[in-house]
Amino acid sequence: MKITDVEPIVLRVPEVDVSRADGTQDAFLVRVHTDEGVTGIGEADTSPYVARTMVEMPSSHAVARGLRELLVGESPLDVGRLWQLMFHGSDHYGRGGAALHTISAIDMALWDIAGKIAGVSVAELLGGRRAESVRVYASEVMPETPAGARAIAERAVERGYTALKLGWGPLGRDREHDVALVEAARAAVGEEPELMIDGGRAYTVESALDLLHAVEAARLYWFEEALQPDDVEGYALLSARSPVRLAAGEADAGIMPFRALAERGGIAVLQPDLGRCGGFTVARQIAELARERGVEVVPHCFSSGVLVAASLQFVASLDHPTFSEFSVADSPIASGLLAEPFVLRDGRLDVPRGPGLGVELDEELVDGLRAR
Ligand SMILES: [Mg+2]
Repeated sequence: MKITDVEPIVLRVPEVDVSRADGTQDAFLVRVHTDEGVTGIGEADTSPYVARTMVEMPSSHAVARGLRELLVGESPLDVGRLWQLMFHGSDHYGRGGAALHTISAIDMALWDIAGKIAGVSVAELLGGRRAESVRVYASEVMPETPAGARAIAERAVERGYTALKLGWGPLGRDREHDVALVEAARAAVGEEPELMIDGGRAYTVESALDLLHAVEAARLYWFEEALQPDDVEGYALLSARSPVRLAAGEADAGIMPFRALAERGGIAVLQPDLGRCGGFTVARQIAELARERGVEVVPHCFSSGVLVAASLQFVASLDHPTFSEFSVADSPIASGLLAEPFVLRDGRLDVPRGPGLGVELDEELVDGLRAR
C-alpha cells in the first residue's frame, strides 16, 4: 500500500473578521490518498495558506522538503517513521509553528487510514476506548459586556452544556470589567456547571493573581493561558500562588514544551491541540506524560468537526477522560463540514464508532467553502 497524493484543502468563510480571536473563520484540511482507494482525512488549526504551501512546494534541499514530495510512494501505515521523515525533512523551516501544524494534519490522516485498514477507531489504536461519550464544554470568545456574557452562558445552559469557557476578547484590559464579566457568566450558568476562563495571554503574574483572588467565589475549573506560551518561569511563579488550577499548551508542538509546562510551570491541565501539537503521534506521548505527572489533559479544539472527532478519539483513550472542547462559534466551519454533524446529548458527544476518525466530510459544503 502506497501514498499516491497529499491533497491540501483550504476553507474560508466569505466574511472574515480578523479582529476576532476566532479560528473557525477558515480551516486547513488534508486528504491523504492511497493506491488501494482508502483515504485519510486530517486537520490543522493553523494558517491554511502557509500549510498548503508546505504540502505543495518543491523541495529546496535535504532538510527543506515539500511534504507531498516526501510522502508520495511511502507506506501510509509507517506512521511513526513518516512523522520523523516529515519532522527532519522540514527541519530548516520547521521544528515548530506552522510546519508542526501541517505535520499534525497529515499525521491525523495517517492514523485515520490505519484505523480504516484495521477496522477500528483511532481510540482503539491508541490503546482502547475508555469512554463511549465525552463531556464537552461550550467554548466562545468573551463578549465585550457582562450582558453579552450572560446571553452566551444562558444559551449554553439551554442547549444542555454542563460546562462553559469564555476567553480572549476584552479580558486583561481592566480588572473591574474582568470581574464583572466572570461574575455575569457564573450567575447565568448557575451553581452546577463548570466555568473556565481563557486569559488569552493578556496578564502578568501579578494581574492574573489579582483577578483570580477577586473571582474566587466564581469557582473556576481552570484559568487558561494567563501568560505567553513560552513563559514557563512565569507559570511556575503563578501556579505557586494561584487559587485556581492553570491550563496551557494549545500553542505548543512536540513533547518538550508540554514536559516543561507540567514539570516546571506547575500547569495542572495540558491542552494539546491535535491539529497543532504533532497529531496523535505526539498527543499519545503527552498522555504518557500526564500519566507520569498526574495532570489532566483536555485537548484544545476550536475548528471543524474533523478536529472534534480527533479530539474525542484522543480523550476516549485517556486514563481519565474528563472534557473535550467544543466551539459554539457561529460559523459554517464549526457547525458543518461533516456528513453527520455531532449531536449534543446531556452535555456530551458520542465518540465516533466507525473506523479511523469515524467521520466523513459533507463534500458539497466543503466544495462551497473551498478557497483558491
Ligand atoms: Mg485558549
